[in-house]
Amino acid sequence: MVVTRFAPSPTGYLHIGGLRTALLSYLWARKNNGTFLLRIEDTDFSRNDEAAALAIVEAFKWVGLEHDGNIEYQSSRLEIYKHHIKQLLDEGKAYKCYMSKEELDALREEQTQRNERPQYDGRYRDFTGVAPAGIEPVIRIKSPKVGSITVHDGVKGDVVFNVHDILDDFIIARSDGTPTYNFVVAVDDALMGVTDVIRGDDHLSNTPKQIVVYQALGFAVPKFFHVPMIHNHDGKKLSKRDGATDVMAYKTMGYAPEALLNFLVRLGWSHGDQEIFSMAEMLELFDPSDINRSASVYNVEKLDWLNSHYLKNMTNDKLCELLEFHGVMLISHDKREILLDAVKERAKTLAEMALLISEILVPPAAFEEAVLKKGYKEESREILEKFSTALSSAEELHLPSDYHHVMESVVAQMGIGFGKIGQPLRIALLGKLSGPGLDSVMAIIGVEETLARINTLISY
Ligand code: GLU
Repeated sequence: MVVTRFAPSPTGYLHIGGLRTALLSYLWARKNNGTFLLRIEDTDFSRNDEAAALAIVEAFKWVGLEHDGNIEYQSSRLEIYKHHIKQLLDEGKAYKCYMSKEELDALREEQTQRNERPQYDGRYRDFTGVAPAGIEPVIRIKSPKVGSITVHDGVKGDVVFNVHDILDDFIIARSDGTPTYNFVVAVDDALMGVTDVIRGDDHLSNTPKQIVVYQALGFAVPKFFHVPMIHNHDGKKLSKRDGATDVMAYKTMGYAPEALLNFLVRLGWSHGDQEIFSMAEMLELFDPSDINRSASVYNVEKLDWLNSHYLKNMTNDKLCELLEFHGVMLISHDKREILLDAVKERAKTLAEMALLISEILVPPAAFEEAVLKKGYKEESREILEKFSTALSSAEELHLPSDYHHVMESVVAQMGIGFGKIGQPLRIALLGKLSGPGLDSVMAIIGVEETLARINTLISY
């Protein structure tokens, strides 16, 4: 049985890097018919951070990830942690330390001056005397003092940490009794039966501490997969300046959830040179031991490329559904199919698509001088009038090809090139010189609206 988890610290939104580790954890659990848990690491213990959980669940819902069971809040598990702290105290595996803050600061200062790593010196480890008055002790765990701890990491291989360089008897409970981060993570992962911890490699240095906790409590150590960070083009950790970090911003920008997931799975994992992965393929092919060892680079062009791919290949029903979020309601539009086919090749995002659609459905509000200068010539008026006349007398105008025939006949009759009619007509219909095919635009808005827009331009 594989049990994975996503364990975000509440920040109010789901971070794009978080979604990537969540996705990998999700895939690995689902692929193995296992369980994927969601745990909110709200370790300030003052209240359940439900708002944070809601933001994550909302983002999960948008991309289609589902966690199993109830959401666990660390803030609700204080008694459990206290129980295990007491157990360690009773077994002599942890102890009370009465060192004051001033003493600790002084020790650090001395160590720094000697060019040593600042660390606790273990002075209360075997203390049997009378506790100093007026000091609420912290609880420290007995860490090994010599040797090494090896993290058997599924991505990085065996990572050996020299105990002397990274460990001391670290605090597992503060003087107010609240447990510390590395302690609760280890306790939770163990009690929740997590078998495979997939998380960012910014946590790798925490892992030896967590292993100390597992071992002290007699829990089995899970498998670890530390996923390299997502970097920007300068090789630095992704920040807001490089691109949106809030997952829901990608919805607003008009990315399809499957494109975003595809983008994220490829950030740090690959399968040959395959770029397009449906959820079914991810589930079939993903294995955390194939996660890349080096950092991956966030590349928005790649995301745009994937998004165009998904938009182009999406059913129109699905497109309609996604476009509603961008303010476009097409459910009952009788030319829906022509409309979507006309725009879906031309947009990188749903937001762009929504804009293209409104440019078709809403008449141009004004005509720019520069555009007119470029595309509306002396002869344009006569050409457009001829075209209007031809349109008015044509019968059965429905499909783009019907409109195309009328254009052809006018062009032939006047002995002019297509450009001569195309440019002014485009300005009349869309107010600009580029955009979707004119035949389609006319078929979508219909004959009357086409005539009206031509008239507006002529009398402008
Ligand atoms: N709460 C940690 C974070 O948001 C993750 C801890 C973990 O995955 O072990 O970075």
